[in-house]
Amino acid sequence: MCLISFDNLEIKRNSVGDNMKILNLNLVASSGIAMGAAFIPTELDLTPAKHLITHPEVDTETSAFMDARDLAISQMQKMVENAPAQRDILTAHIEIAKDGSLLQGVLDKIRNDHKNAQMSLKEVEDSLAARFEVLEDPYLRERAADVHDICSRIMANLKGIPLKMYDNMEGDTIIVARELFPSDTSQMDFSMVRGFVTELGGATSHTCIIARNVGIPAAVGQAEILKEINHGDQLIFDGEKSLLLVNPTQHKITFYKNKMAKHLKRKESLKKDMHLPTVTTDDHKVEVWANVGSINDIESAMENGADGVGLFRTEFLYMENTAFPSEEEQYEIYKKGAELCQGKPLVIRTLDIGGDKSLPYYVFPVEENPFLGWRAIRMTLSNEQEDVFKAQLRALLRASAHGNIHIMYPLVISLEEFRKATVILNKCKMELEAEGLAYNKSIPTGIMIETPASVILAEDFAKEVDFFSIGTNDLTQYVLAVDRGNDKIAALYDTYHPAVLRSIQKVIEAGHKYGKHVGMCGEFAADQMATQILLGMGLDEFSISPVDVPLIKHSIREMSLKDAQNLATNALNFGTTKEVRDFLKEEGQAKL
Ligand code: PEP
Ligand code: MG
Repeated sequence: MCLISFDNLEIKRNSVGDNMKILNLNLVASSGIAMGAAFIPTELDLTPAKHLITHPEVDTETSAFMDARDLAISQMQKMVENAPAQRDILTAHIEIAKDGSLLQGVLDKIRNDHKNAQMSLKEVEDSLAARFEVLEDPYLRERAADVHDICSRIMANLKGIPLKMYDNMEGDTIIVARELFPSDTSQMDFSMVRGFVTELGGATSHTCIIARNVGIPAAVGQAEILKEINHGDQLIFDGEKSLLLVNPTQHKITFYKNKMAKHLKRKESLKKDMHLPTVTTDDHKVEVWANVGSINDIESAMENGADGVGLFRTEFLYMENTAFPSEEEQYEIYKKGAELCQGKPLVIRTLDIGGDKSLPYYVFPVEENPFLGWRAIRMTLSNEQEDVFKAQLRALLRASAHGNIHIMYPLVISLEEFRKATVILNKCKMELEAEGLAYNKSIPTGIMIETPASVILAEDFAKEVDFFSIGTNDLTQYVLAVDRGNDKIAALYDTYHPAVLRSIQKVIEAGHKYGKHVGMCGEFAADQMATQILLGMGLDEFSISPVDVPLIKHSIREMSLKDAQNLATNALNFGTTKEVRDFLKEEGQAKL
C-alpha cells in the first residue's frame, strides 16, 4: 500500500491490483457509516450575460428581474412545505431575497447604470457576499454562501434554466460535490441520500447542519476530492475512522454491511426506549435534555426523546438577522419552542455574543483579548444594550405564558451581574403587568457556570439562582487558560484535567447543598467516557445534541449510581489528566 499526498488529502492506494482507493477525510462534520454510489451533480452554467441597455429596455429588464425574484421566493416557499427539515435555512433565504439591499441594489444598477438584469444581479450578489466574507466569525463568513445560493436561483430563473440536478438519483447515493447549498439539498430525495462529501465548506456550513439534522454522515473541506471520484463509483463512508473507500473490494463491502447492520440494530433498540425516563439499575433518575439553536432542533430533540431543552443558543437568531430581532419576532419563536416542548423545560440562554461570535449589523469594539472581553452578559447588561436585553427578556416572559420556559444567563462572574439582570427582568415584569400581558410570575432563572469565579462562588450563587448549567466548553478554557479555538494548544484543552473535574464536582455539591438543579450543557455531557463519572458526581441533567439523546439515555440505564459514585471518587483523586484518562479507559468506559 502506498501513500500519495494531495495538499490536505491523503490517499492510500492498495497494491493488490484492485481498484480500491482509501481516502483520509480530514473534516468529518457528521459521523456515521454509509454506502452508496457517488452522485456528482452537474454544474449549471449560471454565468451572467453582461451588456448595457438602452432607455426603453429599462422596464423590460426591471420586470424580468422582479419576475425571477418573485419566482425564486415562491419556489422556496414551496420547498419549505416539501422539506420541513430545512425550514429555518430556506426561510432565511426568503428573507434575503425579499431584503431591500438586494432589490434596491439591482434596480439602481438597471435604472441608473443601465446594466442588464443579469449583470446587475451578479454585481449586487458579489458586493453583498463580500460583506460577509470579511467577517471574522466563521459562521457568519459562511453566510456569504447563502447570498450566492439565493442569487444563483434568481439567476437561473432569469436565464430560464430549470434547477433539476438531482432528478436522476437512483438507490443508495452519496453526494460528492464542490459545495452544497440549500437549493441543492432541498431538491434531493432523502430516502436515497446516504451521505455528503464536499470540497468546500466548514463545520458550520449548511451541508453539515442538514446532515446532522437528517442523521447522515458528512465530510466537508475535502480539497481536490472530485479529482479522485467519478460519478457512479461505489463508495463507503466510514465517519468513525474518517475514511472514504472508493470502489471497495468485496471483502470490505461485506465487512461494512455487517457493521452497518449492527449499527442499525443498536439504533433500533435505542429507539425503543428513548422516550422512557432515564433511571439507573439502582433506581436513580436523571434527566437527558438537548442543546438546540433553532425551532427545527427543538422538533428533533422531542423526536429523539429529550426530557427537555437544557440550552437554546439564541445567538443564532441574532446572527442570521439583518438587525437586532424585535421583541415580537423573538416572542413568536420562543412561544413556538415552548409549545413544541409541551410542558417540558425549555432553558433559553440570553444573548451570548462577542468573543468569537459577531453580528453582521453591529460593530464590536476592537479588543486585544475578545474571549476575556465585552461579551455575553457583560454586553447585555451594559447601559448601551439595555433595550436589546429588555426586548429579549420581555419576549421570554411573554412566551413563558405558553410553556415551561427557564431563563439562563451566560458567562456570569459575580452576584452583582445576576442581581442586575434580575432587576431588569423585574422591570420587564412590571411593564407587562401594566400592559395586561400574561407571563409566568415565577419563571425560573439560572446561570451558566463557565468561569473560575462562578465555580469559587458556587455556594453563594446557589442561594440566589434557581439552577446551574455547567458550560464545560468555556469552563475548560478559562480554568486552564487555554483558548478553545487555538489549534496549536489544542492538546492542552482537556476537560479531563483534574482541575476542571474538581470544579465540576464543587459546583454540583454547591448546587445540591441548596437544593438546586445542576445540569451540564457543555460538550463534555455527551462524552461517553465521561457519562459514568458525571453520574457519580451527582449531575442532575445531561444536555446534549438531539441525536445523541437515545444513546446517552441508554448508557445511563445500564449503569448503577453506586458504581458510578465509586468510579467518580477514584477518578477525582488523580492529580494528572493522563492518570484520569488511563483510569477511565481501564475501567472500560471507552467501550460503552
Ligand atoms: C459552554 O461554554 O460550555 C457552552 C455550552 O456555551 P457555548 O459553547 O455556546 O459557549
Ligand atoms: Mg459558553
